[in-house]
Amino acid sequence: ASSSPPLPEPVKDKLLGGLLSPGFDESSCLSRYQSVLYRKASPYIPSPYLVDRLRKYEALHKKCGPNTELYNKSIEQLKSGRSTGPSECNYVVWIPYNGFGNRVLTIVSAFLYALLNDKVLLVHVPEDFADLLCEPFPETSWALPKDFPVEKLENLGVRTPESYGNMLRSGVIKNDMRFAANLTLPAYVYLHLSHDYSSLDKIFFCEDAQQMLRKLPWLLLKSDNYFVPALFLVEEYEEELRRLFPERETVFHHLGRYLLHPTNVVWGYVTRYYQVYLAKAYEMVGIQIRIFQHAPVSFDTMLNQIINCSRKENLLPAVNLEEPGVPPKNAREKAVLVTTLYSGYFDRLRNMYYEHSTATGEVIGVYQPSHEEQQHTDHQNHNIKAWAEINLLSFSDALVTTACSTFGYVAQGLGGLKPWIIPRPAERNQDCLRGSSMEPCFHSPPSYDCKAHKDVDKGAVVRHVRHCEDLDSGLKLF
Ligand code: GDP
Repeated sequence: ASSSPPLPEPVKDKLLGGLLSPGFDESSCLSRYQSVLYRKASPYIPSPYLVDRLRKYEALHKKCGPNTELYNKSIEQLKSGRSTGPSECNYVVWIPYNGFGNRVLTIVSAFLYALLNDKVLLVHVPEDFADLLCEPFPETSWALPKDFPVEKLENLGVRTPESYGNMLRSGVIKNDMRFAANLTLPAYVYLHLSHDYSSLDKIFFCEDAQQMLRKLPWLLLKSDNYFVPALFLVEEYEEELRRLFPERETVFHHLGRYLLHPTNVVWGYVTRYYQVYLAKAYEMVGIQIRIFQHAPVSFDTMLNQIINCSRKENLLPAVNLEEPGVPPKNAREKAVLVTTLYSGYFDRLRNMYYEHSTATGEVIGVYQPSHEEQQHTDHQNHNIKAWAEINLLSFSDALVTTACSTFGYVAQGLGGLKPWIIPRPAERNQDCLRGSSMEPCFHSPPSYDCKAHKDVDKGAVVRHVRHCEDLDSGLKLF
């Protein structure tokens, strides 16, 4: 009998349309070129301009990276206690804060800020954050050297005298250039862009602040927010951002897949789990369940929302309650990947499909890699699991996330998925709603209109952003 030869496997573009540099040793970070084999093909192609800017950034980073002559020179200036204007190499030092999802959203935000300002991004890696992410730039390092002269970076906060807001208040710096000319610039400015930032810290997002900050070779930055949408509201970046991202909703998708590569340790967790439990399914639905202490939801409310949403949106089949129903021997399997800190949801979903057949005849496998019970961001091993599970979720064909969880945002962005969001019952009387884009939400955006000198609703007046589906006060690109 003549049978047609099997179709060749489609060739996967491991460099993601030029997003990734080919200049890496593959074995040092297997996920960098292998993630493409696991995720759904992305329909979004990075712009040639973005690709070009990334290669130029890589050259700059190599020139200015830790322990280069130019880096050492900049460190000497920092130690001198003052700045005399921008140097050949200017830096943004990222400082971790809050959970893993928060952290990587702010790394991406800080990188875009650095890219727009020709600054170099260095990341402070404490023990709990070590060996989770690969080096993203070839032939150099983004890790802040241990002997960096500013100490106790983790203690920086809204009250730190060197914060941008506090220095504006005390008159150490001024945004108006005419006055700034007479001031001695400080050695560095600390940008406090976390959820508790002050109205003066928020002036960061005004044009004259951006110009002034360009004079400083060292900026330290701590945030737990995806502040990219507010960069789109700074007029002078508009044109550049339009060229970098002709499709606005791809910012995190492209930059996340460019910067965020799990190390071989994490990738081992991901690929072992995938191969044992998920690979045989014809389709995978990811369900991410997050319970926040400040917005508690009862177990049953959450479970019912998830089940109702999955049914209504045809993500999962209904079960036959009346008849036993036996699946055919070769029934197709759909996999449900549940990620959450707790085990109860998994048990209920698994039992539902164990005790009953489905209306479609398919079989449903329910899987949950871990149940850590509590958040322990200060434990590296806990963070490995969190990061591994975010990656597994990003392989989904369809994704259900919990409102306002940055953990879910990272998975949806890396996977290129518009999620179905389980809203907070207090905010929406709906089982779920569809995200308008795969972009993360900026939870605490500034509302200050720098030109009008008053607070405004930015979600209503500006073209590029809108309020988030999961948080009315948030802003997201679409
Ligand atoms: P958010 O608080 O939901 O915005 O997400 P974050 O990632 O910033 O912080 C939550 C942290 O709790 C995670 O980083 C993990 O440490 C832990 N966590 C929450 N949900 C899960 C989960 O489904 N799996 C694992 N392994 N850890 C989780």
